[in-house]
Amino acid sequence: MKIIAIGRNYADHAKELNNPLPSEPVVFMKPSTCIIKKNKPFFYPDFSSDIQHEVELVLKISKVGKNIEEKFANRYFNQIGIGIDFTARDLQRIAKEKGLPWEKAKAFDGAAPLGRFLEKDQLADIGNIPFSLKINGMLVQEGNSRDMIFSFDQMIAYVSKFFSLQIGDLIFTGTPAGVGPVKIGDRLEAFIGEESLLDFKIK
Ligand code: ZN
Repeated sequence: MKIIAIGRNYADHAKELNNPLPSEPVVFMKPSTCIIKKNKPFFYPDFSSDIQHEVELVLKISKVGKNIEEKFANRYFNQIGIGIDFTARDLQRIAKEKGLPWEKAKAFDGAAPLGRFLEKDQLADIGNIPFSLKINGMLVQEGNSRDMIFSFDQMIAYVSKFFSLQIGDLIFTGTPAGVGPVKIGDRLEAFIGEESLLDFKIK
């Protein structure tokens, strides 16, 4: 399986990092070795001193597809969950300055803690999914799928032009404003609506 991630999909977050609004989705990938499940801890790596949290809604692909038309895209995912797109912001800054790829900043081991998934049918309106992240009980990020620049269907149509989608693939759909550093000892808890779906510690 693979993780496809979309960058700068919320205008307020693009603004906070001084990035222009994209005219087409910004796409990068994370390998399966990024995934942390079952609320296991994230171990702070020694190659960065600025690991930042990005809380994101995550789609789970349920059907094989390529060149998927936007109007059929909703048939290709059946579950929505929440995850953290951990980013070594210091390494990303250097990569951006030099025009180099982002893998070291985004695709390192443990860079994608994943929470429990909800069936798509359990959600009243997937165009209006509130989600949030608390650190040590304090609300730090809050978003809603209605504020995405590219919708779930548009993202699936776009990425499937380049990458065949396979069952179990994940799409990280972008983070809202409020990204910031984490430190050893922090407890991160992520929610869809009021439901806590991910709860882990930084060690
Ligand atoms: Zn992200």
